[in-house]
Parts: sequence; C-alpha cells; structure tokens
Amino acid sequence: MHADNPQDLFLSRVPKADLQLLRALGALADERGTTAHVVGGVVRDFILGLPNYDMDVVVETDATDFAEAAAALLGGSVKAHTKFGTVVLVLPEGRKVDLATARSEVYERPGALPTVTPGTMESDLKRRDFTVNSMAVVLNPDGFGTLLDPFGGRGDLGERILRVLTDVSFEDDPTRILRGVRFCARFGLSMEPVTEALLRQAVGERRTDTVSGERLQNELKLILSGDDPWPPVFRLIDWGILSAMVEGWEPTTAVRATIVEIDRLLSGADEIGDPAPERWLTLFAALLQPLPPAVRDRVVERLSMGRRVRRLVGELAEFERDVLPALSADENPLPSALHKMLKRFSSETLLLARAAAPGSPTAERVALYSSRLVGTTTELTGNDLAQMGVPEGEAVGRILGVLLDARLDGEVSSVEEEKTLARGLVETLTRGTGTDSVAGE
Ligand code: ATP
Repeated sequence: MHADNPQDLFLSRVPKADLQLLRALGALADERGTTAHVVGGVVRDFILGLPNYDMDVVVETDATDFAEAAAALLGGSVKAHTKFGTVVLVLPEGRKVDLATARSEVYERPGALPTVTPGTMESDLKRRDFTVNSMAVVLNPDGFGTLLDPFGGRGDLGERILRVLTDVSFEDDPTRILRGVRFCARFGLSMEPVTEALLRQAVGERRTDTVSGERLQNELKLILSGDDPWPPVFRLIDWGILSAMVEGWEPTTAVRATIVEIDRLLSGADEIGDPAPERWLTLFAALLQPLPPAVRDRVVERLSMGRRVRRLVGELAEFERDVLPALSADENPLPSALHKMLKRFSSETLLLARAAAPGSPTAERVALYSSRLVGTTTELTGNDLAQMGVPEGEAVGRILGVLLDARLDGEVSSVEEEKTLARGLVETLTRGTGTDSVAGE
C-alpha cells in the first residue's frame, strides 16, 4: 500500500480487526441495497495518523434496522438511540460502532435547531461543520476504502487549515465557534482567513445567545479538557468569545499566568492533592476567579453548570473571605492550623490558590498542605483508644484530633509517643479535670 493513494491513506491506518468489521458492514449494506460509509472525525484522525476509537458509520437507510441486521450477523447487541437516527452497535468483544441514518439538515432560522430529514450521503456531508470533518470512506465492497471528499478536507488537512463549508455556518450553529477554536488547537490548524472573519462576525453579533447552556457548557468543557488547553483558552479571551457568551465575562490579563501555572502544576511531579484536581474544573474556576460575584453567578447560570461547579464557586468565595487573609499573613501558621484551614477545600480550589500567586507565601503554604499535611494520619485508631479505656463517643474523636495536631506539628513522631500523649489525655479526661484541653480542640 502507498499512503499517497487516498484510498490507502485511510485503510493503511485502520487496525486489522476494525478492517474486517468495516468490510462486513460494507458487504451487509450491499446486501440490503444501501450504502455504508465511515465518516467524520475518525476519517480525519486516521488520515492524520492519530488513533480514534469512535467509529461513526452512516447508512442511507434506517440505522436501527441496519444495526439489528449487523448484530444478528456479527453477534452483539444494539443499544438505544442516542439522538436522531443514531444507534450503537455493541460487538461481543466490546467494540462499539455508532450507526446513523444519512440526513439532511435545513436551518430555517439561524441558531434554531435544524429541520432534520433522512437524506443521502452527500447531504449528510454537507450539513457538517468544517471541511476536515466532512470526509467519508466507502465501505461497500465496490470501492471499499475510497475517500469521499466533496469539500477538499484532505487538502486542508495537509495544509493544516480549518475552513467552514458555507458562509452561514456559524450563524446556523454557533457552537461551531467553540468547535473551531478547539479543532485548531487540537490539530495545530490555522483558521483560514474567511473562516476567521465569519467566526469573529458571529461573535460580534452574539450569535451564541441562541444556543442552550448545556451545549455551550459541553463545548467549553471539551476545550478545557484538551491536552494543551491554554492556547485555545487565550483565544476565547482574546476574541471576546467568553464575553459574547456572558456579559462581563472578561478575565483580567493575570488569568493567563494562572492558566499556564495550572497546566504546569498538573503536568509536573509536584503533589497536587488527592483526589487529583480535575483539569477542566480548575481551569474553569480560574476563568471565574477574577470576576465579581454577580458575573460568576451569571456564567454559572448561563452555562447551566452543575452541582460541582456551583460548589466550587461557593468555595472560591469562602476561601477568599475566610482563609486568604490568614494564609497570606507574614507569620507562618502552625501546620495543624494550616490543616484546619484548608481541609474543607477541594483540590481544585487549592491548586487554583497556588497557581494564582506562584512563589507567594500562600502558594508555599498550600503546597505544604497538599504535599505533606493532607496525607498525615495518626497511627493510633479509635479502637486502640477504646482499648486504652477511652469511653466510646465524643472523647475518641477529640483525642484523635489532638494526636493529629501533635503529629502535624512534629510533637510526636512515633506510635509510642502517640500512646504517651494519649495516656496523658485519657488520664486528664477520666480524672474529670482539665477536660477543656481536650474539648477545646
Ligand atoms: P472528537 O474526536 O472530538 O469526537 P469529532 O470530529 O468526532 O471529534 P464529534 O463531536 O464526535 O467530533 O462529531 C462527529 C462529527 O459530526 C464531526 O466530525 C462532524 O462531521 C459532525 N459534527 C459534530 N458536531 C457538529 C456541528 N455542531 N455542526 C456540524 N457538524 C457537526
């Protein structure tokens, strides 16, 4: 095979097992008097030599009927519809193929959902977002492996260009603004000048206003979860895409340094908390941090953010109000005090606090907490204390608290020392004098 031949370009990169599967689907399509094509992202990725496990196949017939016939032929099962005309064929070894009916989409009003009708392969490619995503490969035996590329996606991919199919692409579906930014970053594409002008125009006209919060959220999450999130995030800021989505969402320039630092900390060897902070969530919080509370709330509402983000926004406010002043004070807090201050915060909030002020006392103290203090435990357990005569109940927790503080502050460093301290505390407790020293913790 020669990779310059378009037919081989795709086929040479398909794993052997998948090749058999694709041939079988193509033969089945022939038998049923229809066509089957593998389409979209997987074609793009294989041409680029990248792995892709989302096999999307389009048939010019009812996808459910076709999937059921394929399941009967190959074994496996058909999973419920995901969206219009789409089903999942689950094969015995767990391989999944998304099957969809070829469709045609007409946007009667910009930004509204399109009217969808069954269509041909040609119309199905025409409804797609960018030329590089609008290629298909024939699976029917006659022509197996032939690339269908009506918009020149392969050439654009070769030149690393992102280009829309029509002048009204961003008006029709403004989520493509975010998709475009994401694809450029992910594949190192540059935006073709007309495409860029159309995108910026759609941003200027606030076309995203017609898009649901869930869709915007979903696209933004994909950008923030990418391998190298900061170039696309900077573009979202620079091109006014965030402020077009939510009025006032204009992070200060300092946020750039924070984002780069988050990325560095997440990719480095430093201890950054357990469970490890989630990248998209931390970056999202960084984009909210410089905003006044009312704008933070507006972003959360507009993007229909879920429970975790809402909690994080609450945490940010709490951290800024209750913790930051003490944390940034000149005097070093005792490790036990630091532990008390920080233990209620998620690892995302803590990472953000570090990233927002690298090298500051705040960052150093949070780093100390995340690397050493957070994992500190006592060696003695509640059971051990019970055996030492501590009555069940509140006292156990209090004594363990005192032991933990002593551990954190380096006052005890072995189980023997813990026992000695615990015995003293038990004695005080059982004598009924000075219980305050225990209760006070
Ligand atoms: P990824 O690897 O991120 O999933 P992908 O290209 O497969 O990349 P999907 O969102 O899974 O992205 O979409 C699959 C295909 O469906 C795309 O390649 C594109 O052809 C088409 N598509 C998806 N979303 C849109 C959209 N908003 N407008 C037009 N076409 C779209």
